[in-house]
Amino acid sequence: MEFNYDPQNIFARILRGEIPAKVVFENETALAFHDVRPQAPVHILVIPKGPYMSLDHFAAEATAVEQAGFLSAVAEVCRMSGLEDGFRAIANARAHGNQEVPHFHVHILGGRPLGPLLAH
Ligand code: AMP
Repeated sequence: MEFNYDPQNIFARILRGEIPAKVVFENETALAFHDVRPQAPVHILVIPKGPYMSLDHFAAEATAVEQAGFLSAVAEVCRMSGLEDGFRAIANARAHGNQEVPHFHVHILGGRPLGPLLAH
């Protein structure tokens, strides 16, 4: 599969500092910020700083350092967000995944019981 990253997507613009975000954590390879339309008491997005469109793109092409930095950011976000009772991590991809923003991101949701995985 060929991945064509659009550098004008909104998360690329956040990474370039062109639009603001409520950043909660940052390291060398990843950034975490609050979702603008939170769907749970905790709703944080973790994104890599590199130009990857989706989880499968990131898994296929990101370096080991980028992948480790990303997972370390996820761990830190969970630790700092009081998610001891649990959480859900969601990575939507492309049309069937209903992905709105074509820069890879993981939603970290929690702060209340989230119910079953999918609404039917
Ligand atoms: P997805 O459908 O997985 O691509 O989700 C994209 C998410 O990005 C949605 O939950 C939006 O609410 C969120 N979002 C869109 N624009 C912004 C923004 N400027 N800052 C923070 N979150 C955003």
